[in-house]
Amino acid sequence: MSRDHRKKPLGYVRGFRPPDSIAIQNALGKLDESNNVFTDEFCSSFLPLSKPTNENDWLANYNEHGQTYEKFLKECPFVHSKFFNAKPFDEKTIYLTIFGKIDENIFDIESLVDYTKIFFGVSVKLIALFSNVEWDDKKRVWSCTMDKNKNSINLHTRYNKSTHHSQICVTSILKLLKRVVPKDARCLVALTMYDLYLDDSDLFIAGLAEGNSHIAAFSFFRYDPCLTFNDSDWFYFKKKSVEETIRREQLRLRSCRLLTHEINHLFGIGHCIYWSCLMNGSGHLEEDFSQPMFLCPVDLRKLVTLTKFNIKKRYEELLEFFTKHNHLDEVKMLEIKLNILKKLDDNNRKRSIIDDDEKIIVKRLRRK
Ligand SMILES: [Zn+2]
Ligand SMILES: [Zn+2]
Repeated sequence: MSRDHRKKPLGYVRGFRPPDSIAIQNALGKLDESNNVFTDEFCSSFLPLSKPTNENDWLANYNEHGQTYEKFLKECPFVHSKFFNAKPFDEKTIYLTIFGKIDENIFDIESLVDYTKIFFGVSVKLIALFSNVEWDDKKRVWSCTMDKNKNSINLHTRYNKSTHHSQICVTSILKLLKRVVPKDARCLVALTMYDLYLDDSDLFIAGLAEGNSHIAAFSFFRYDPCLTFNDSDWFYFKKKSVEETIRREQLRLRSCRLLTHEINHLFGIGHCIYWSCLMNGSGHLEEDFSQPMFLCPVDLRKLVTLTKFNIKKRYEELLEFFTKHNHLDEVKMLEIKLNILKKLDDNNRKRSIIDDDEKIIVKRLRRK
């Protein structure tokens, strides 16, 4: 028998069963008048969960159980009244800060801020916290200063002599962030184009969040389409030429996807197994890049519960964003969803006119 004949078709990790339509309906939870957006037609505009096609894909390795809407309500601290009483969720701010230098011709930070605002429907502010981020070639470490404390701070760094590549340990950035979280922060997120790691065995880490402290740090270094990496050496990468507009477009989509996925985690939303969704886990960069920009109905319902945005208005704003930046796949998906929601609005309006007419008839009858 040839080797290929012995190869098993690629399936989910042992124990994982993709949810059937009843399990998906249960995950969405009981609906009432206030969330009549989640109709069958609306839900069918989302693509089903993808099967693993690569042995490193997330669901080929992790037996995710899924977080239903009900489970989210129980688990998420922000849902509970004591947090809402302290300050309504949507009145707090998402703070973003840049760590180190970025090339704004390539990394469209302005759009990333705009997108985060639209996506979450809360205030987003970009603030400067780190300065003088510098490489010390003698000590082979990165250092920086914080605005309030002008002493230079060394960051835990690893360096490879043959490629001259370095990585900063993500916890040394988190430690600094923890000192300066603004009082009205829903979260504080540092973004960098420098490569990060956590443990010595890591190839790299895209980022790390500390939910309890509401802080996170993420690197877009490996999201740059000009770079290719191998699976065995953290210090090895190749540069290839990619047209500047394409580079900027891809980096914009990838950074918007990563940041919104991670902020959702900070807000208590877990990995998704119900649809093809922004909150699906990803086991490697290719899988990450292929995932959708949008939340499935289950996760959208969770976010609406927190931020109270109007789903139709938010989709319209997202449509404007993706149209402006010429991301046509996302434009197409949003147009389909908006058409469904507009139809639903029209039907509701017609129904309320009929209801009003019936009330008038009843009143007239009573007058007789
Ligand atoms: Zn995740
Ligand atoms: Zn989802």
